[in-house]
Amino acid sequence: MTNIYTLLTENFPADRSQTVLETPEGRTMSYADFEAGSGRIARLLMDCGVQPGDRVAAQIEKSPEALLLYLAVLRCGGVYLPLNTAYKGGEVAYFLGDAEPRVLVCDPQAEGPLTETAKQAGTEVVLTLGGDGAGSLIERSRGLNPDVGVVAREADDLAAILYTSGTTGRSKGAMLSHDNLGSNTLTLRDYWGFTADDVLIHALPIFHTHGLFVATHCVLLSGARMLFLNRFDADTVIDLLPRATAMMGVPTFYTRLLANPRLTKEACAGIRLFVSGSAPLLADTFQEFEARTGHRILERYGMTETTMSTSNPLDGERIAGTVGHPLPGVEARIADEQGNPLPQGEVGILEVKGPNVFKGYWRNPEKTAEEFRPDGFFITGDLATIDARGYVQIVGRSKDLIISGGFNVYPKEVELCIDGIEGVDESAVIGLPHPDFGEAVVAVVKRQHGGPEVTAEAIQESAKAELANFKVPKKVFFVDELPRNTMGKVQKNALRDRFKDSFSSAA
Ligand code: AMP
Repeated sequence: MTNIYTLLTENFPADRSQTVLETPEGRTMSYADFEAGSGRIARLLMDCGVQPGDRVAAQIEKSPEALLLYLAVLRCGGVYLPLNTAYKGGEVAYFLGDAEPRVLVCDPQAEGPLTETAKQAGTEVVLTLGGDGAGSLIERSRGLNPDVGVVAREADDLAAILYTSGTTGRSKGAMLSHDNLGSNTLTLRDYWGFTADDVLIHALPIFHTHGLFVATHCVLLSGARMLFLNRFDADTVIDLLPRATAMMGVPTFYTRLLANPRLTKEACAGIRLFVSGSAPLLADTFQEFEARTGHRILERYGMTETTMSTSNPLDGERIAGTVGHPLPGVEARIADEQGNPLPQGEVGILEVKGPNVFKGYWRNPEKTAEEFRPDGFFITGDLATIDARGYVQIVGRSKDLIISGGFNVYPKEVELCIDGIEGVDESAVIGLPHPDFGEAVVAVVKRQHGGPEVTAEAIQESAKAELANFKVPKKVFFVDELPRNTMGKVQKNALRDRFKDSFSSAA
């Protein structure tokens, strides 16, 4: 396969005047605009010295122009490096120093401080792009000749580097090739039945694999259309539902939609597919959403390093609490710490192999070698089981595994038990340092709004009735909200940090 940009355009509609993107404010762009706009930016980048293989970093708000920039980087054979907009100066300095991009595109307001940071990393060119589409990137590309063609690339050449969220140690750059992205998104388009008739609600950030690759590519590879929101807002999404056929979201999108009384069966009547991923979707949310709208959310699983690996089926049974089967072409197995495959039904570490799996960590061959088995399987670090029908169930991250008094406790099992208690909205179970047990099981609980005032003792009693004693939380803390990142993942590190001294005086 060549440059993924070519693959995308081969699937654009023959009539390029068709709309590809529309914003709630009424802005539209056609496929022709996408080609011309990305061509002009590609010309500017080439004029700025971007050569094939050069990194182009972007820390910018979501906008249609940000997608043009991504496509432009692909067209000149560059490597796109999107950065989470939440990163602060010191963090950006690390990424620039590590990736040494030729060009940085940042928000106009950040230009002053980041220009100095960029210079120190050897990045001479800083361009700007604001959430409103203004900035030097567009000003300087205006009027340039868009007919730049597409730089040829090999299947294994890099298309993007995405830094992982870095919850264990320093964030690492995952190198994704043109073939990684192309093969995975072709598979998803077909697996989820995307066609030119689809209209996708796109409310995800585009610095992450979910919004940038999964959502955007499914649209572009099927000549479809997207309703493009710069951020998720339940009311806006509900307004747009009647005009859409599909939505992709993180679990928080679904819980926020459910909290809105305007979410009804009628509002969702024209939707054929709701997809969820990036964090676990609670079975309760799945069931509540079905009861309210008649739709069974399709849950899939992936990560920055592997793009998408498993999915519930479009036509077969979608099972709550599972992430479905390995996608066509992807192999998945459950193994112990040493990589020995475990019998079906046992909990172990999920390993995956296939054309979706990345090329390794940027300038970090040691870390890359550590995360791969000799037979090419990538060690995801997620704990999972595979049932007799081949459905994969994620039990948690292996680093979140709690070892209390020598016994393994899978947080998910305890969370499921607590979440089932009346008066509990959701919970996060963590391990905290304990003088006797090494680690103690602790539950952090968000009470249900308007529900019965559940107590710590009641939670411990219920857990005791269902679970072995060593799994019962030694302490229960109540919070107003569980801390989550933009992709909806509960930040257990933050919780462990906040409550770390809870047992320091325990006997
Ligand atoms: P990221 O690299 O930011 O995409 O994070 C990947 C991680 O998110 C995975 O390793 C899982 O721990 C988690 N994840 C993604 N999708 C799901 C899902 N459907 N259910 C449970 N965890 C998920």
